[in-house]
Amino acid sequence: LYNFPSKLLENAVNELAKLPGIGKKTALRLVLHLLKGDTINTDALGESIIRLRRDITYCKKCHNISDTEICLICSNLQRDHSIICVVEDVRDVMAIENTNQYKGVYHILGGIISPMDGIGPGNLNIVTLINKAAKGEVKEIIMALSATMEGDTTNFYIYKRLKACLSGRQEFNLTITTIARGIAIGDDLEYTDEITLGRSILNRTPYENTLVKY
Ligand SMILES: [Zn+2]
Repeated sequence: LYNFPSKLLENAVNELAKLPGIGKKTALRLVLHLLKGDTINTDALGESIIRLRRDITYCKKCHNISDTEICLICSNLQRDHSIICVVEDVRDVMAIENTNQYKGVYHILGGIISPMDGIGPGNLNIVTLINKAAKGEVKEIIMALSATMEGDTTNFYIYKRLKACLSGRQEFNLTITTIARGIAIGDDLEYTDEITLGRSILNRTPYENTLVKY
């Protein structure tokens, strides 16, 4: 497609073009932009990407992206550790944190069940969530997944696992809720505006109540 005059140029374009949403044309434009700019900027860009991949860790408690073994939210004693909000990934945590309406902690699944994409329950951080519930210290688990078929499937799967784990242990008194669907069906959490998302967290409903339609 392109007759590159330089192998270095070609490599840089090819590497960038591997990113989602970036074609060769865009990649070439970005590379030429970098070439025109200051060396300091390209050094900073390169280093931030290398360090991102090498040094980033995942919180041992909630699986959120973190610079430390336990993330800032999980190590914050002002947060209510008996309320866990279950989300798909870090973008949802960022969106919910932006609402300033939630003072519990999170559990990041790392995706949602999607047989079409070959993602089953075993690929997600579900066992660690069930283990947390089994300790009996959790009062509420809020399911805050996308209002899609995959989100519903994941909600139901986790609900069943939690029910099975808690059966015969009434003393645990765990409530499973879902965020109110002020969010339009099919919407991803991260695209929802802060006010709607904040309200849907405050107006959450017991998950059982949403099961009637099944
Ligand atoms: Zn954490």
